[in-house]
Amino acid sequence: MQKNCIYLDNNATTKVDPEVLEAMLPYLTDYYGNPSSMHTFGGQLAKGVKTARERVAALLGSDESEIVFTSCGTEGDNAAIRAALLAQPEKRHIITTQVEHPAVLNVCKQLETQGYNVTYLSVNSQGQLDLNELEASLTGNTALVTIMYANNETGTIFPIEQIGLRVKEHGALFHVDAVQAVGKLPLNMKTSTIDMLTMSGHKIHAPKGIGALYVRRGVRFRPLLIGGHQERGRRAGTENMSGIIGLGKAAELELLHLEEATKRERKLRDRLEQTLLATIPHCEVNGDPTQRLPNTTNIGFKYIEGEAILLSLNKHGICASSGSACTSGSLEPSHVLRAMGLPYTTLHGSIRFSLCRYTTEAEIDQVIAVMPGIVERLRALSPFKNDDAGWLQEQEQALAHR
Ligand code: PLP
Repeated sequence: MQKNCIYLDNNATTKVDPEVLEAMLPYLTDYYGNPSSMHTFGGQLAKGVKTARERVAALLGSDESEIVFTSCGTEGDNAAIRAALLAQPEKRHIITTQVEHPAVLNVCKQLETQGYNVTYLSVNSQGQLDLNELEASLTGNTALVTIMYANNETGTIFPIEQIGLRVKEHGALFHVDAVQAVGKLPLNMKTSTIDMLTMSGHKIHAPKGIGALYVRRGVRFRPLLIGGHQERGRRAGTENMSGIIGLGKAAELELLHLEEATKRERKLRDRLEQTLLATIPHCEVNGDPTQRLPNTTNIGFKYIEGEAILLSLNKHGICASSGSACTSGSLEPSHVLRAMGLPYTTLHGSIRFSLCRYTTEAEIDQVIAVMPGIVERLRALSPFKNDDAGWLQEQEQALAHR
């Protein structure tokens, strides 16, 4: 990646904090032992793991014994879902939402083929859940409710504790994919209804390949990876030492910066969003206007393709992300924006800008300066520019029937 690029794709991944790298380096050079070994090496490494666990626990407001190191958010989600089902083999019902990350959605889809019954809760046009729908879906047969804290595409935050209270009334386990929320929202597992919570290192300035799963003490947990006794039998495999140390350091820094960084990011995000809305016609914010991550804005620029906007931004050294994922060569619109029922013309022209504590005012100014020109140029080339209502209607109907 260009060193001087304007990186506004922090919900996809973040850069490793220099302090995190510095903390990790000795564990890739001098401290190369195995933390389970009995010799001096092992003791030093075990101490490092303990400190990292304490730091992650402090960020989540949990006890250190409740933290299990994993390889990524995807592993945490898979492990939590499997564990919840194995612990309650008599229950065959799962509740999730239509807007989860594939790390949850695709596991649920596979479980359906194995005889589980899955309810996918709908969202409204702002990406919010209807808690009455949740209430109506919960039964004595519900083993697990797995719902994300905040959406990776729109930043919409779900009312997790209100959801948790309802889940508890029905005796189900509650797993929360907090990959996007950790480090952006204050969390306190001690007062929470959450039973298991997933986080991922590379979203909080730690490297890729490390994550953690919070498992409330008392929750019957069965490991996904079976082998040695690492992580107190909850996750087999020799520890990713440098990754664990990096995650610990990153967690410490997130906690340290949380309040001031999120305030700053919100201010910058709001300025970006409000200026773009004021200067570019036919665009709107996708997601909940208030219950939203402070670093995220997802804006639909009608009548043009998100991918074309991204390529144009890239020419200006600006990295962002489109709402649509390019699957097997076809430009499928995002499942999240589709679940929100957005019109076809917005679905395809949606761009996510996601900030971090390194984002500067000058960078936001640069995006504000180039975006109107990019949109104007692409709209001039757009087949939608004459607002061919018949054609649009046809496309939207075709999409609705998929
Ligand atoms: N859950 C959410 C909400 C995410 O945004 C992501 C990654 O983008 C994941 C899970 C998967 O995390 P990882 O990339 O660490 O596997």
